[in-house]
Amino acid sequence: MNLLTKRLLIALGLPSLLLILVYLLQNASLAQQYRLLTPAPQLPYVIVAIGLLLSWGFKNARDFYIFIVIGLAYLGLQSLAWQPSANVNVSLLFAGLYFLLPLNLILHSLLSDRGILSSHGLWRLVLTCLEASILFWLVHQPDYHLESFFNYSPVTWPLLHLSKINFLGLLLIFTGLLLFALQTFFQQSVLHAGRWAMLLSILLALNYVQTPWLSSLYFTIASLACLFAIVLNSYNLAYLDELTHLPTRRALKQHMNNLGRRYSLAVVDIDFFKKINDNYGHDVGDQVLRMVAGQLRKVHGGGKAYRFGGEEFVIVFQGKDADDAILMLESLRERVANKPFIQRSRLRPKNKPNKPRPRTRVQRINVTISIGIAERSTHHDCPQDVLKSADKALYKAKKTGRNKVVA
Ligand code: GH3
Ligand code: MG
Ligand code: MG
Repeated sequence: MNLLTKRLLIALGLPSLLLILVYLLQNASLAQQYRLLTPAPQLPYVIVAIGLLLSWGFKNARDFYIFIVIGLAYLGLQSLAWQPSANVNVSLLFAGLYFLLPLNLILHSLLSDRGILSSHGLWRLVLTCLEASILFWLVHQPDYHLESFFNYSPVTWPLLHLSKINFLGLLLIFTGLLLFALQTFFQQSVLHAGRWAMLLSILLALNYVQTPWLSSLYFTIASLACLFAIVLNSYNLAYLDELTHLPTRRALKQHMNNLGRRYSLAVVDIDFFKKINDNYGHDVGDQVLRMVAGQLRKVHGGGKAYRFGGEEFVIVFQGKDADDAILMLESLRERVANKPFIQRSRLRPKNKPNKPRPRTRVQRINVTISIGIAERSTHHDCPQDVLKSADKALYKAKKTGRNKVVA
């Protein structure tokens, strides 16, 4: 499993685990007796404020507006529904939120990100605040009973009565969950994974909207899920290579500070890569890089691969000397050389052929790698020196015919 997939699972899994834990414990008398699960009512505001600052810093307009929507919804519930003194139409507030909260969360995550303070962004802010103000005004009107509008339901499935949320709200939430799951899967983005976990928490926050402490707890987890994803995403930007999903040179630098006394380093370089780019195009070059990275990730013997830059990679073998590592590297080199890299290009004849022809032209590209390896020794006792020595060995491998491992 590559690092990105692991981080996606963390972004999805950690908030979900938290939700399961709270869900299981919410009725436990011990937890209630000691108020273990009762967060300070201000906690969601604190997390929303941190989320706003971070998404502002990372120029992430989508999550910025998601935090605004969560903050406004929570403020509305806290100041109107959960204050017994407030004289408002609470059932309209709930019915409106069941529908408007998921709708806004989905819209803000789907609309294009054109900057927080661009005119597009400001319009989003104005419309969101306007919508909240209209709902605020409506719930203060004694004669306006618009609940039936929000509570419209074309079907009467008994399953719908399991939740307090109205039909339209449930429809939006489950559509959103499906959408965010697909986006997480296809776009491989932890931000989408965070939004999926956020929407799941909002489902529970709305379901228990009549129990303030519990709803407040789910609001806390909803904003935490987004915040957590933003932090994970920034970590990915710094330490994970976007193309190959291998850790970057920066991550290697950190690993090189903690290598211990016995280790070897291998420098891997793709042979004649410039020719692959020149002959087949940059996109095919990128695919080759991904294929090679996939093989490096699977290297045996506990080796950890990094993208060093361009078409160069470094593999760290901790606790192994060069003799042990060479065996693994030889089999890696062979695997890459024997793995058929098939490139399909579309043939587009100018005139319509008489006979049907195969649509694609299949071409096999031979990809090979050269590897230089060095171990820590009395001559080279700092990782930078070992790396230089491995680089020299790589140069030798290139000079003496390529597609080989040299120590
Ligand atoms: P050698 O066998 O001696 O290593 O020759 P080479 O052609 O592989 O080496 P060279 O250093 O001349 O070329 C490396 C090329 O890699 C040049 C650069 O355009 C290309 N490259 C670097 N990064 C990327 C990338 O992310 N994607 C693609 N497609 N090409 C890249
Ligand atoms: Mg090369
Ligand atoms: Mg090179």
